[in-house]
Amino acid sequence: MNMLHNIEQLERVESQITQKGLTVWFTGLSGAGKTTICQAVYNKLIEQSLKVEHLDGDLVRQTLTKGLGFSRVDREENIRRIGFVAHLLTRNDVIVLVSAISPYRSARQEVRQQIGAFVEVFVNAPLSVCEQRDVKGLYQRARNGEIQRFTGIDDPYESPLNPEVTCSTAEETIEQSVTKVIQAITIANFPAPSADNLD
Ligand code: ADP
Repeated sequence: MNMLHNIEQLERVESQITQKGLTVWFTGLSGAGKTTICQAVYNKLIEQSLKVEHLDGDLVRQTLTKGLGFSRVDREENIRRIGFVAHLLTRNDVIVLVSAISPYRSARQEVRQQIGAFVEVFVNAPLSVCEQRDVKGLYQRARNGEIQRFTGIDDPYESPLNPEVTCSTAEETIEQSVTKVIQAITIANFPAPSADNLD
């Protein structure tokens, strides 16, 4: 697919998105590309005058979940609180983008069930690639033993089994990942046929 075709296709799909509450939950290792893709999707939705919020894990941990650590219990609490806010926004017709490592399958499943209108995006890059990117220098610090319980190094990450979207960021461009997410939002928010239109 050439670039022009790709952009035209993206613009056509974007313009079909309706303002219906939905949580799009990006999960993956640190440095996999969650924030990067989320911000690009956010910008595309804002351009379409849609109501959208981005709950980013790093920012949330400085505010809503300040004081929580990285034990399993605290990580689950972190996800639960983000899920609570995402749920409130979703039921008020906001498109919510969440970018958080959210390493535990059961915690993600819990927020999916609570929220209902939910799309899971697995931002997938091999640990070696994330470590090479080392956007925040955290992998180096984890390897040096300066940080404990770092996901992928000495703490688990449970990959989604059936995510609606997988963005393989070591193999595809940011633009390609964004297109996939926008398409998934379009499908999820496609207006259900009204009873009048049913035979
Ligand atoms: P996370 O939010 O998952 O911790 P970030 O988005 O902060 O990750 O960082 C991902 C890094 O990888 C950024 O520097 C980004 O520019 C880079 N990157 C390279 N290729 C891609 C891609 N295809 N998709 C997303 N990010 C990518």
